Amino acid sequence: MTSKCRRRPVAARFGPKIAVNGPANGSTCSGYVGNCGCMHAEAKLIMEMLKEGREHPHLEVTLAPCVQCAHLIVAVGWIKRVTYTHDYRDKQGVRIIRNAGLEVEKWRS
Ligand SMILES: [Zn+2]
Ligand SMILES: [Zn+2]
Repeated sequence: MTSKCRRRPVAARFGPKIAVNGPANGSTCSGYVGNCGCMHAEAKLIMEMLKEGREHPHLEVTLAPCVQCAHLIVAVGWIKRVTYTHDYRDKQGVRIIRNAGLEVEKWRS
């Protein structure tokens, strides 16, 4: 699965279930920093899990969640742990997740 985002491809997964960021149906990626118009991978993945009525405690992402995604991750209720590979330029998302009592850490491979 390849991301169609021209700005920064990101992947998210819950166990075997994976989603990538990219333009939502009917939109295109503008390539602008911070506002490229793409749906974020973790938001897309969480939406799919909710639609399917599935839960998974461990979210893995290739880029630390942004503020909006962090709120979503906390609000879902069944996510207990978030690991990410790369830091996001804004650290606020990680703080929101940590302050909500979830485990969040940078993955060191
Ligand atoms: Zn994009
Ligand atoms: Zn996000």
